[in-house]
Amino acid sequence: MDGKEFDLRGKKVLVVGLGKSGLAAAMFLRRRGAHVTVSDVRSAEALAKDIPALLDQGINVEAGGHGLLTFRRQDLIVVSPGVPLDTPELVQARSFSLPIIGELELAARFLKGKTLAITGSNGKTTTTTLVGEILKDSGLPTLVGGNIGVPVVALIDESTPDTWSVLEVSSFQLESTQEFHPFIAVILNITPDHLDRHGTFENYALAKERIFARQTAQDFLVLNSDNSRTAESASRAPSQVYCFSIEGTVRQGAWVENGTVLFRVSESAPAETILPLAAIPLKGTHNVENVLAAVCAARLAGVPAASIRAAVERFHAVEHRLEYVATINGVEFYNDSKATNVDATMKAITAFPGGIHLILGGKDKNSDYSALAPALRQRVRAVYTIGSAAQKIESQLRGVVPIHSCETLARAVQTAASDAQSGEIVLLAPACSSFDQFENYEHRGRVFKELVHDGRDWKVSQNA
Ligand code: ADP
Repeated sequence: MDGKEFDLRGKKVLVVGLGKSGLAAAMFLRRRGAHVTVSDVRSAEALAKDIPALLDQGINVEAGGHGLLTFRRQDLIVVSPGVPLDTPELVQARSFSLPIIGELELAARFLKGKTLAITGSNGKTTTTTLVGEILKDSGLPTLVGGNIGVPVVALIDESTPDTWSVLEVSSFQLESTQEFHPFIAVILNITPDHLDRHGTFENYALAKERIFARQTAQDFLVLNSDNSRTAESASRAPSQVYCFSIEGTVRQGAWVENGTVLFRVSESAPAETILPLAAIPLKGTHNVENVLAAVCAARLAGVPAASIRAAVERFHAVEHRLEYVATINGVEFYNDSKATNVDATMKAITAFPGGIHLILGGKDKNSDYSALAPALRQRVRAVYTIGSAAQKIESQLRGVVPIHSCETLARAVQTAASDAQSGEIVLLAPACSSFDQFENYEHRGRVFKELVHDGRDWKVSQNA
């Protein structure tokens, strides 16, 4: 994105939303000489830990709501991914023609080197981490950031013209992009999620498509051709499209044949063997999809097949993503707290042949849980519900498998653990977000793991 930098010196810039990326954006803007104000609906008490550092840097802080005048007196507004773009103050600012961009767009204008961006409803963190590892292992100077934890603006100072920035990008971040055009873009899948924010599935899909909207014919787009909404995007892409599939051959890209991952760079090129499926240390076909996407991205970045294979073989599940926790009395416990939507839960269920005791629930995102019914009938012994979505889940899945209303995660783990027989699975893959009972999905996953380990101690002392 070199050459698109704008001069921030003396500019009045408002940062809306003081999350991790808002905070990093404010500090970056200030370092580049802008007059920065941050505005957040949370109270000064709630923001207390960040305010002193901001004031120290000469950044104005508006807490406890947004003032309309604050939004008018700006040259630029940078909006955090957590803030909906239809927030009334932003709608009004837009009517005054004030430029509004997100942190991703801001950062992309300053980032040096090549950008490889990964989006999708599920699998972003796993695939971004994997691609980051593959590139690093092959010796390419690599930075990893975005939705994965390190804000993109925080990568700018380290980036050089040789850097590969591997970015996990969410629909919320893509919504507020304008010129962002990664050299390699990946869309893993588009399945219903975040309908509470985007309104309709199509709006959500259109936000994802912004990842390639400004690409050029020199750029690459990697798509999942097994996912119908993703495959549909191919016809709209201005860039060179590569596909991946676990169901059949692709014209150019990666696929699976006779238990082996293959890649070809064009329809007329010979297929290269990348690695056997058996060498992938992750559970579930969804992770094969993630590996295929990573293979395409890494080959397009010039990484040789042998180097990709070695990095994939070394890779292990990212925490809270179908993470193995323990085996107690022959029962295996898996933490998939990051399964915050129906599709991710479906993938988690299908990663096991059967005998699953499934913990479902949390905060509903306007989801349709009845889509889980066929998979439940095939592989799940019983469901244990928790959180505010419990009633909705129970009414949509009544009669499919036995359902136990547990309300809390502690009760669910205890009930599922005592119901499960040796050789069966207790799986937390809740299909909901966590904010009704936990700080976030990581907190929920950690509590689950503690409950499992506490249960082991309890059982051991019972047996002693
Ligand atoms: P994201 O960053 O998109 O949320 P993660 O890698 O954190 O993706 O995984 C989120 C959830 O989705 C986890 O439950 C994980 O097991 C599941 N998952 C991972 N990859 C895929 C995929 N390709 N398709 C569907 N579900 C997936």
